[in-house]
Amino acid sequence: MGMETRYHARNLMDFFTTFTSEESCERYLIQMRWPDEMPCQKCGKKEFYSRVKDRRAYQCQSCKAFTRPTAGTIFHRTRTSLQCWFVAIFLVAFDKRGLSALLLSEELGIDYRTAWAMLGRMRHAMAKRDASYTLHGYVEIDEMFLGATSEGAKRGRGTTQTPVLVAVSYTPITGKGEMTGFAKLQAVKAVTEKTVIDFVKSQVEPGSTIRTDGLSVYPSLERHGFIHDRQPIKKRKAHFVLPHVHTFISNLRSFVQGTHHGLSEPHLQQYLDEFCYRFNRRHHRTEMFDRLLRASLEKEETPFSALTH
Ligand SMILES: [Zn+2]
Repeated sequence: MGMETRYHARNLMDFFTTFTSEESCERYLIQMRWPDEMPCQKCGKKEFYSRVKDRRAYQCQSCKAFTRPTAGTIFHRTRTSLQCWFVAIFLVAFDKRGLSALLLSEELGIDYRTAWAMLGRMRHAMAKRDASYTLHGYVEIDEMFLGATSEGAKRGRGTTQTPVLVAVSYTPITGKGEMTGFAKLQAVKAVTEKTVIDFVKSQVEPGSTIRTDGLSVYPSLERHGFIHDRQPIKKRKAHFVLPHVHTFISNLRSFVQGTHHGLSEPHLQQYLDEFCYRFNRRHHRTEMFDRLLRASLEKEETPFSALTH
């Protein structure tokens, strides 16, 4: 106790020998939230009676109030066991590409709606975590379109493609070209000067250098405090002009096809957020479980019901 808990998930076997029961998951969660022991939510003292059977609650020895270790997290007020949540987080975090709700429901033996809602909560936690970071330095910006597959179009559903703005940072390294950094994605109603400027201003630090292909609607970046590196696309192929964005977009396209078989528009941003979260932590795979668990512990203000439809 007192030490910060860190679990580096090496593999599935390692995970299952660490989190063997509901109690071990709860202990881990408590240690992660309160490295110096959980305080009573009412009086702050740290002496509790033994855990209340079948309730995620501890009674304070001084004031008799109950403290719930999951209060304020995405685990609160769900009927799903912590162990089930931990396995779900492990699977989602450790997988290189991310799981669909269908696969998650099959892997965990839970119904599709529950799996879908759990994934929604995890994605929300991922999005919140990434929203606290902005890109800076050198950034490539471009747009792409995602949407209904041709099969979907034949069935006469919404056939419109959703424009998505893409930003990928990079670091020039002397003598070694450029190293890809972090990414941001934003689905928008249309690609206009306003949506692009809003996107750049919310996701990129002022003073950064923005590289674009010179074709699109990026006229006033300088007026908003950015340095505009406009690369005319005419003579060169797109992937030479914006190499980081280009590679990122092709990975995103194969994720969309492979994991989700095309994406429906209402929840598109959720998937984009998950993809970014994963991409931005691609060099920290063994820490992904801890990081996603930690992100999931942050105060959850979105009601569960908002994510289930
Ligand atoms: Zn108390």
